[in-house]
Amino acid sequence: MAKIGFIGLGNMGEPMAANLVKAGHEVKAFDLAPAATAKAKDAGASIVVSAGEAASGVEVVITMLPAGAHVRGVYLEGDKILDTADAGTLFIDSSTIDVETARAMGEAADGKGLAMVDAPVSGGVMAAEAATLTFMVGGSDAGFERAKPILENMGKNVFHAGGPGNGQAAKICNNMLLAISMIGTCEAFVLAEKLGLDHQKLFEISSTASGQCWSLTSYCPVPGPVPAAPSNRDYQPGFTAAMMLKDLRLSQEAAQAVCAATPLGAEAAQLYNLMESAGKEGLDFSGIIKLIRGEL
Ligand code: NAD
Repeated sequence: MAKIGFIGLGNMGEPMAANLVKAGHEVKAFDLAPAATAKAKDAGASIVVSAGEAASGVEVVITMLPAGAHVRGVYLEGDKILDTADAGTLFIDSSTIDVETARAMGEAADGKGLAMVDAPVSGGVMAAEAATLTFMVGGSDAGFERAKPILENMGKNVFHAGGPGNGQAAKICNNMLLAISMIGTCEAFVLAEKLGLDHQKLFEISSTASGQCWSLTSYCPVPGPVPAAPSNRDYQPGFTAAMMLKDLRLSQEAAQAVCAATPLGAEAAQLYNLMESAGKEGLDFSGIIKLIRGEL
């Protein structure tokens, strides 16, 4: 069992840290917001007062923070945990951040003789609680092999996506595809409504025809065909439109940086932007059907 420092105990970080405790690890946890630490304490983590303290005297440091600036902040500024951690510490960043910062953090760690992997997750709070997250890992083979058994305590699938930053690259490519397929699925249902074609009929036909996709068969944006989908509870999330917009913005930043043409990704970002402007970013991302239908 390992000694692990965990930084960032929000909606995702807290249950992830709790699962590490459950698996028998010794977890030192820190969050800037005192309210966020209470649940982690109840779960059996020992709460410390700084990121520096969480990162010292441990074998592994996991961060689960809002964005790249926060990860850079704890790694290289403020407590400078890349400088203060013990020799041989493995750094795992599971936050969803921009590819460029992920690669820069990997390089900075490497420059100090430390291993670092980016390991963003797919799956929301429920998957974090159930330890069924999917991890997409970027980093060296050796870093991946060290991270894998730790990540397996918090998830059911752990993929090695390649070198530094490739975990983040996999995450934003996947979510850009998901946004595009969700918008396409919504457009098909709205067109069907106007043509007098029943939702259930379109679902039955398309789910066995060439229009089949996850957004249709597992997360159907109209109520009825997939009872567990957020559409059946007035689009309560789930995965919020705000989170999808964050990932789409990251995908567009990355696309610009490498001159990749992603016109549908750009359009998807614009549509989720409109959803945010309408004040509906707290709805599930499948609620974009309301925008397509002209209800927002
Ligand atoms: P959250 O806002 O609930 O939690 C982030 C936590 O980080 C907060 O408690 C905040 O106080 C803390 N924090 C910020 N700066 C800090 C610092 N310098 N030191 C210590 N703590 C600090 O966010 P979340 O929903 O837990 O998401 C975390 C990451 O996971 C994000 O990058 C998000 O994009 C990604 N993600 C979230 C979901 C989801 O469904 N919530 C799904 C997949 C990926």
